[in-house]
Amino acid sequence: MTGMAVDILFPSRCAGCGDPVRSREHHLCRSCRDRIPYLAGSCPVCGGPLAGTVCPTCPDRHFFFKKNIAAAEYDGITRNILHALKFDRIRDLHRVCGSIALKKFSETGMRTDYITWVPMNAKKRWARGFNQSELVARYISGKTGIPCRRFLTERRGTRTQRVLGLRDRFLNAIDRYAVRGAKELAGKSVLLVDDIYTTGATINECARQLRSAGSGEVISLAVARADVKRLEKILFSHKIEH
Ligand SMILES: [Zn+2]
Ligand SMILES: [Zn+2]
Repeated sequence: MTGMAVDILFPSRCAGCGDPVRSREHHLCRSCRDRIPYLAGSCPVCGGPLAGTVCPTCPDRHFFFKKNIAAAEYDGITRNILHALKFDRIRDLHRVCGSIALKKFSETGMRTDYITWVPMNAKKRWARGFNQSELVARYISGKTGIPCRRFLTERRGTRTQRVLGLRDRFLNAIDRYAVRGAKELAGKSVLLVDDIYTTGATINECARQLRSAGSGEVISLAVARADVKRLEKILFSHKIEH
């Protein structure tokens, strides 16, 4: 079938703005591509928003990753793209997410021995049909030549982080993940890929597991970082509860 026939049979809409697009544009129009809210001037450690020149979250935290790279603000276009990928299950959008994350990672000039991803338990993965973080990790692996390995698994019966406040997120994350392939991991640096960095609880726990299994440095890479308002809401809900 020709590209044109595919377009006529399966017209698609831009995941960013809703305008019609040709399928070969990977569901994102040029105008939205040009308006992706890439982050600049964020905290060099956690990638979070700075309050003036200081990071409001880093000083009280111990991170097991060396650095978190967050590519874009989780707002507007990136929010729509990630929603369409995860909830409308438009699998092809992982390329857009992958290229957003890869752009930021390339700018750092860093390189790791392996790439891995934040896992999703089998039940959740089965329901969605894929793990978006894995797809993004594999995309970056394909472009950089850094080998991609499944080093982490998520235990069964875990609660989703999305509905929880800050303190509960940290408690819920503890021992939620397990490492496999520790032999291969020994002393090797790892790029750990996730879709959205919110409080860092998930990625920090994954990094802790990798480090305690003997890995070298862990660099985390998130496609998007939750916007400040969303973060405040989580922090605030924590204050009400406790
Ligand atoms: Zn658009
Ligand atoms: Zn920070």
